[in-house]
Amino acid sequence: MTVIDYRQLYVGGTWSDPATARVIDVHSPTTEALIGSVPRGTEADIDAAVAAARSAFDDPEGWANWHPKRRGEMLEQFAAELETRGADTAARVSMQNGMPIWLAQQFEAGFPPLLLRYYSDLMNAAPAEEPRAGMLGGTALVSRRPVGVVGAIVPWNVPQAISFLKIAPALAAGCTMVLKPAEETVLDAFLMAEAAAAAGLPAGVLNIVPGGREVGAYLVSHPGIDKVSFTGSTVAGRSIAETCGRLLRPVTLELGGKSAAIVLDDADLAASIEAFFAATLLNNGQICWLNTRVLAPRSRYTEIVDAITDLAGSLSVGDPLDPATKVGPLVSSRQRERVEGYIAKGKQEGRLTTGGARPAGLDQGWFVEPTVFADLDNDATVAREEIFGPVLTVIPYGSDDEAVAMANDSNYGLGGTVWSADQDRAVDIARKVRSGTVGVNHYTNDPVAPFGGIKESGMGRELGPEGLHAFQVLKTIYLPPAV
Ligand code: NAD
Repeated sequence: MTVIDYRQLYVGGTWSDPATARVIDVHSPTTEALIGSVPRGTEADIDAAVAAARSAFDDPEGWANWHPKRRGEMLEQFAAELETRGADTAARVSMQNGMPIWLAQQFEAGFPPLLLRYYSDLMNAAPAEEPRAGMLGGTALVSRRPVGVVGAIVPWNVPQAISFLKIAPALAAGCTMVLKPAEETVLDAFLMAEAAAAAGLPAGVLNIVPGGREVGAYLVSHPGIDKVSFTGSTVAGRSIAETCGRLLRPVTLELGGKSAAIVLDDADLAASIEAFFAATLLNNGQICWLNTRVLAPRSRYTEIVDAITDLAGSLSVGDPLDPATKVGPLVSSRQRERVEGYIAKGKQEGRLTTGGARPAGLDQGWFVEPTVFADLDNDATVAREEIFGPVLTVIPYGSDDEAVAMANDSNYGLGGTVWSADQDRAVDIARKVRSGTVGVNHYTNDPVAPFGGIKESGMGRELGPEGLHAFQVLKTIYLPPAV
């Protein structure tokens, strides 16, 4: 396989030489071979990127002051250029992080253009200024202004879609940005940069600097940044929140999760098994909102454990570029070690019903069998901590109230699902689950509605109008009473 090689960074609207000759090498999680190499961004590259974003934002004739319609036309160009590269983008993500290609086509190729169009339309539909008749005789003109220069930091698990949860609303709002992709998934970010350049995005509106956590931390604390938007681990989120707290810098944090799937005693899991798979084991178990804690009624516990065991045991594990593959490799050997550590712990805490090992015949790559643990309680380590791999725990409960209490007994609060033949009953339970989002008989992040977490899953929301407001500040102009 040819090695994808980039030598320059997309900063200030052009391809420019990086400050140093250091590189990030990307290895395939499937073959372990070197598949790409890009410049490793440094503090000096962040300085250049923030300066470019700052000058683009501060330009009185620039992006922030364009009519939303004009920005929308430019974002439509960007969407079209992304679509031209969609198949390549999906393949690049899949070969870097092991995401099954059919999923990469939906999430990584499909979602970004959709988000750009959604936020352009939303911005165009919003009133520029809302006059409010005052109680004291005057009038207040209330508007939303772009928050400024955004520092965005993203993880490797769904790199394009997560980036565009930030890029689409930020650019539609009139912000400019510096994006720092994760080291594991830098190659797709260069396709994004090529699309931005081909679309003719004005210089400095979007700047992309790949690098590690030190570069991310430097971006967060940079004096030229007005707002931070972060998706990643709770550990990193806490450290970023501390920095932003000290600097009084607004921040949105999308962090980890350990969401519960509450299977009610009337649920027909067999009828919704595809949706159940998507809610629990999608992307090789590497999505923050996955429902990896399955709560099953005692009255049907054995049957539900068997159904989930059959599901996990039947999934085809292999090359993520093969459209028939349901579960690809984990992103890295480090991630597999972490997941295998939890599997060892799970074997002490519960009963392994399927998986628990490396799949036979896949000697190369960071593969782990889809794994299910039963006969354990909500206090087990594997039921409390985010594993970020294809590992499910199935925990018995007695009453509906007990199921809700167990779902809520978590440090996290990001996703969740309720499975039932009776939608009203399921919605009633969903209302009681303390979490940012809950699905009924499926789980999908619809662009129109806010997505995000509570507790250690983060703060702030992405998607929906709320995701646009996250990149805006309110401004009031007081007009005197008419004479
Ligand atoms: P990570 O936090 O280690 O890294 C994520 C990104 O942050 C990377 O770009 C990394 O370089 C950067 N980073 C790490 N530490 C930093 C710091 N102190 N300051 C600034 N930047 C820093 O997470 P990961 O292991 O790459 O990703 C997996 C985690 O992300 C999981 O916990 C998962 O739940 C979470 N996640 C959350 C969501 C969500 O929307 N809530 C979505 C995807 C992933």
